[in-house]
Amino acid sequence: MEQILVKVPKGRFRVREAYCPNGHSLVNPDKLMSAKPAITTGVRNRGLVSEIHFNPYYGIYEYETDLELHAGDVVELFCPRCGASLTVGELCTFCRVPMFAIHLPDGGEVRACPLVGCRNHHLTIVDLDAQLAAFYEEERRPKM
Ligand SMILES: [Zn+2]
Ligand SMILES: [Zn+2]
Repeated sequence: MEQILVKVPKGRFRVREAYCPNGHSLVNPDKLMSAKPAITTGVRNRGLVSEIHFNPYYGIYEYETDLELHAGDVVELFCPRCGASLTVGELCTFCRVPMFAIHLPDGGEVRACPLVGCRNHHLTIVDLDAQLAAFYEEERRPKM
């Protein structure tokens, strides 16, 4: 399948469906960020385990967790339901640590670096038509 790396303007594309490698939804209707359901995963750092919530808007690097995270920590993210690691083989080009992936419908992925303070991330879209259709639909929606 063809894979395309897309530069998406910050804050325009909202992740509305996100899954662990085993297909469990990571979208959390009980936790809103920017008034939309957050992406929630398990997080492990310095031997402590909790949950972390990410802003669902792509490129908005906002998260909430009750774990203390220090710049330079490398967190480990996993599915809160099945415990599957979200880590993938790809290394961050800046930090050389393995990145993590959140699966989108149709085979797309958002990948990001788990090193606290690094903002390296990208979006991979496989079914470009479907994803772009959703993207433009969102663009056309009047701003509240
Ligand atoms: Zn899972
Ligand atoms: Zn990095």
